[in-house]
Amino acid sequence: MTEFAGSQYLIEIIYLIASALFILSLKWMSSPATARHGILAGEIGMVLAIGGTLLHHGIVDYKWIIIALVLGSGIGIPLGMVQMTAVPQRTALSHAFGALCVTLVGTAEFYLRTPNVPKFMMSVLSMEVILGGLTFTGSLMAAGKLQEILPQRPITYKGQNFVNLLLFLVAMGSAVYLVLHPEAKIFFPIIVGVSLIFGVLLVIPIGGADMPTVISLLNSYAGLSAAAMGFVLDSKLLIIAGALDGSSGLILSIIMSKAMNRSFTNVLFGAFGQVQASAAPGQEAKPVRSATPEEAAAILLAANKVVIVPGYGMAVAQAQHKVRELYDALTKKGVEVRFAIHPVAGRMPGHMNVLLAEADIPYDRLIEMDEINGDFPQTDVALIIGANDVTNPAARTDQSSPIFGMPILDVDKAHTVMVIKRGMSPGFAGIDNPLYYLDRTLMLFGDAKQFVGGIVRELGGGH
Ligand code: NDP
Repeated sequence: MTEFAGSQYLIEIIYLIASALFILSLKWMSSPATARHGILAGEIGMVLAIGGTLLHHGIVDYKWIIIALVLGSGIGIPLGMVQMTAVPQRTALSHAFGALCVTLVGTAEFYLRTPNVPKFMMSVLSMEVILGGLTFTGSLMAAGKLQEILPQRPITYKGQNFVNLLLFLVAMGSAVYLVLHPEAKIFFPIIVGVSLIFGVLLVIPIGGADMPTVISLLNSYAGLSAAAMGFVLDSKLLIIAGALDGSSGLILSIIMSKAMNRSFTNVLFGAFGQVQASAAPGQEAKPVRSATPEEAAAILLAANKVVIVPGYGMAVAQAQHKVRELYDALTKKGVEVRFAIHPVAGRMPGHMNVLLAEADIPYDRLIEMDEINGDFPQTDVALIIGANDVTNPAARTDQSSPIFGMPILDVDKAHTVMVIKRGMSPGFAGIDNPLYYLDRTLMLFGDAKQFVGGIVRELGGGH
């Protein structure tokens, strides 16, 4: 075996191991109990993938690669340290960078290879830059909306869907022409330019509330563009990793759409979040009953079964460690405490699982919505901590509500409902919650971390 064939063989073996690790990583990440292994497997897979690529015979000089590695790490490390609540926009930025890279590689390959590009190669090259281009600008828009640099509300205009369809057809039509006539180089910058504009126009009509679903969809596009790049560069690793990314992103988008009872087309073209329902002017504020930490502690102590419902407010307040203290204090006093997890509680999939796992709350205490909903009628106290939309009974009954049909946690069926939030402001969907006006509901007004801390003190727990 020549030295060249030997190193090629080694690279292929390294890529094979990396691919297997990526598949295992996804499998393990689907359960909180094995998620940490999943992350580790993904990290090792990525180190192997980069290491294998550095052995490539085509590399003539490592200087630029080292500069890029240092620069990339310099940007990546602080980006990875953002607050948990900013992870969706951070993820969008990662997709944007990945997609930009795919588009640039595709562009370089086009100009290196034309006009001698076989039809199949030109097809995947076109797909690569169309998906890469629209994912790059689309992800930047999504990150901007989530970071509130851009307006969160849908930006719409007349004939919007028609313009978007037209742009898509121009990009696809140019790609088909280029496949048939590779010498017509002028069509390539048209494809790239139109895709970049298409990405912007595709995302601006989508409201902030739908952004995480859109990001997951853009993740899928980024994966598919990387898979197309794998065909162009003849890299099986890229094809496998891109296909995994493409399919998992799509599956996640479907799960999220289902959890919000929205169709894909409604998320993409529905301009959800445009009409923000609010109390009619002059309407009297309805009365609610409130309680102190001392009273809340007494009610919890008298209960046998308590279900805690965490939501976005718990994440913002970083109250998960205090919640753990509450769990410990109540469990010690013989109260059965479980956590009800709604699939879209918080601002990203798995948000609550991650926070509660961080506070070392046992995984078997976290119960998914479908499983726990039947138990609420036998629950003494449902304690809601910074959740709102995912507990709103209007989703079951009020056909005019923007969240009508969204599956919710049936907390209103518990004997007593206690809600920790700072005031009467609405949740993400911007709508009032009839739960707060029920006779059995007690509002516990305050910051989640401080209020839970107050209850824990009353129970004689905490540090
Ligand atoms: P919501 O956004 O509906 O409500 C959060 C509540 O937390 C608010 O009403 C707010 O009330 C309260 N809050 C905020 N800060 C604090 C604090 N420091 N202490 C105590 N309370 C606080 O959250 P949910 O988790 O119930 O619902 C998630 C929403 O996000 C849904 O509409 C869902 O569709 C949407 N969404 C989620 C996605 C996901 O993947 N998880 C994806 C896309 C959308 P107040 O200001 O009065 O304190």
